[in-house]
Amino acid sequence: MSVVKAKAESRGLHLEEPLIFGRGAARGRSGVDLEDADISDSPLHKKNLLRDKAPDLPGLSEPEAVRHYVRLSQKNYGIDSGIFPLGSCTMKHNPRLNERMARLVGLGDLHPLQPLGTVSGALLLMERLSEWLLRLTGMAAVSLTPRAGAHGELCGMMAIRAALRERGEERERRRVLVPESAHGTNPATAALAGYRLEAIPANAEGRMDVKDFRARLGGARLGGTRLGGDVAALMLTNPNTCGLFERDIVEIAEALHQAGGFFYCDGANFNALAGRVKPGDLGIDAMHINLHKTFSTPHGGGGPGAGPVVFSEALARFAPLPALRREGEALLLIENRADAEKRGLRPIGRMASFHGQMGMFIRALSYMMSLGGDGIRQASEDAVLSANYILASLQDLMSAPFPSPCMHEALFDDSFLKGAGVETLDFAKALIDRGVHPMTIYFPLIVRGAFLIEPTETESKESLDGFIEAMRSLARAALDGKAEMFKDAPRHAPRRRLNETLAARKPVLRWGGREI
Ligand SMILES: *Cc1c(COP(=O)(O)O)cnc(C)c1O
Repeated sequence: MSVVKAKAESRGLHLEEPLIFGRGAARGRSGVDLEDADISDSPLHKKNLLRDKAPDLPGLSEPEAVRHYVRLSQKNYGIDSGIFPLGSCTMKHNPRLNERMARLVGLGDLHPLQPLGTVSGALLLMERLSEWLLRLTGMAAVSLTPRAGAHGELCGMMAIRAALRERGEERERRRVLVPESAHGTNPATAALAGYRLEAIPANAEGRMDVKDFRARLGGARLGGTRLGGDVAALMLTNPNTCGLFERDIVEIAEALHQAGGFFYCDGANFNALAGRVKPGDLGIDAMHINLHKTFSTPHGGGGPGAGPVVFSEALARFAPLPALRREGEALLLIENRADAEKRGLRPIGRMASFHGQMGMFIRALSYMMSLGGDGIRQASEDAVLSANYILASLQDLMSAPFPSPCMHEALFDDSFLKGAGVETLDFAKALIDRGVHPMTIYFPLIVRGAFLIEPTETESKESLDGFIEAMRSLARAALDGKAEMFKDAPRHAPRRRLNETLAARKPVLRWGGREI
């Protein structure tokens, strides 16, 4: 888009913005005065390596550059703009205090290659965070290094595989059971870890079908001998992606352990449980925690993430390096296999370079310490209360596939739209015209035309009421036969309906002097 076109397409003070290359057409213009460098002595000069043409950089004055980036930032709808009810994402307010802490001198400028002797405070902070995570989950060990939830899943599955190898069962245990309602990362992780996947259907209540699960387990114990059994692990999310607590989880864990399998729990929904339920009490062997969801780091724009994994006694020694360890007064970072093995550990290796997302560790610990144990518990309770308020306030007009109450997210299907000529996607687009960011749609896959709403604990009652009113008025409009109002929504957004398939399949990622 050219500058002229951008101007013509701006509406009100909603300003269109071309790419910076389109805006900065005046090559050679610069926002700063740079002295001519004397390079006659430089080795590049001597070797004839200097470019003979100036690079093709946009030429912008300082105010133009500032405006460009401010306009781009204003195109980004985020949790600081308004309610962001995406289900399965936990888009909640990130207290500014955490940001201040992460930028403190001595923390904000830490470097991963600093000598350990200069970072004892950082190690202490990691130890504190580990203690909080272990306390909240009731598990035996934690690894802080995985860089995201999905990366944590892989870490947990690799530890399970290492434990099976040690037992001499790596070859025969090839199956991983994953409920149909699972987040897509679960089956992807199991496949990446080399396992054969099997989907377990949901029952009419939206929970994992325990009978079906038991039937798939095979194997049994006879006295002390394990018979058959080729299940390596179950990957279960609790609360699940329908926003429901898997009530039979203790029974599930027992059956699984009896059959010789391990229990991986997807802990992305810990925001509903923290302070109330300890996964360690439920028989879980490994679980990741999305610090960026539950423990408040801004996310959603592609990073950063942190997915620490907690382990049961059975898996603790397989945790990856580096391992933080207290030996008397000394706080050590065990970085290599030999040092680990001397201490009885059997690490799976490293999940990533260095020590993890330090900035997020600081934010998470700051969040935990400012809320305290009781505050974390209250946050979980309020998240569940908010979701139930939404479920109860919309249930008469919209259709909820599973009986209430729910946990931290409210789920609806599209059966209430039957015959209205309006689909879930149209409904979501119409919400944009009302100034409301849509919820997650068409996920979980087991519910037709799903609407998955996660309000989190940080929305006030007034904010929830505003959202509910927008949903109710749209639902009424759909039921009153006003389908046409949905079909070309959004009308007021800078972009209308995009061809999302084409954009995903054939993204145009280059600027080649062409108009885009
Ligand atoms: C977000 C999420 C994940 C993946 O976490 P990332 O940090 O995005 O990799 C896995 N499972 C569930 C249920 C999630 O909501």
